[in-house]
Amino acid sequence: MLVLSSPSGAGKTTIGRALLERDGDLVMSVSATTRPPRAGETDGRDYFFVDSGTFGAMAEQGEFLEHACVFGHRYGTPRTAVFAALEGGRDVLFDIDWQGARRLRERVRGDLVSIFVLPPSMEELERRLFARGQDSEAAIRLRMGRAPDEVSHWREYDYLVVNRDIDSGIDEVHSILRAERRRRDRLVGLAEFVGTLHREGK
Ligand code: 5GP
Repeated sequence: MLVLSSPSGAGKTTIGRALLERDGDLVMSVSATTRPPRAGETDGRDYFFVDSGTFGAMAEQGEFLEHACVFGHRYGTPRTAVFAALEGGRDVLFDIDWQGARRLRERVRGDLVSIFVLPPSMEELERRLFARGQDSEAAIRLRMGRAPDEVSHWREYDYLVVNRDIDSGIDEVHSILRAERRRRDRLVGLAEFVGTLHREGK
């Protein structure tokens, strides 16, 4: 389970999409949200867009692995899809905030790798939020106002990536993913393989 968090606009969504294109063993966890869709967003691909009644019922029925309120809207990670992907041998990417990352970490501990993506400066963050042209000025001000709070959680993450330019941001995150996959304790069946090598070498 690979978590990407960042202040809004630092580039984690772009990095996440690029990783999914590059890496066939990685699938995205699609969250449910009460936020209205932005131009260009598709239901079921970017989010499951639901009303607050539906979200509340899903939360009550325990359908979320974690859920949180961010910028006045509710967001939650549907549980079933995540475990189905993991059981199918895929890795799962989460684009969630620090609250979600914290809750997932409490639940799955060693199965989670978390990366915090930082912008090169607050000025650049603001420039990117305006440049993507998806939010009203009021929404951007709200997101900028929350950025220092989001950034203050950086110590809770395993890795930090400063996203100076998008290509190196993507490369850095992909390197982390590839290295983490090679950790000894994640290599199921490795002991058997090494045992075979050992026998063959005798
Ligand atoms: P946006 O509205 O820009 O798509 O997302 C706003 C924030 O909510 C981002 O920081 C994003 O990572 C976070 N977020 C999206 N889905 C979830 C979720 O399922 N759980 C939590 N905790 N945060 C989420």
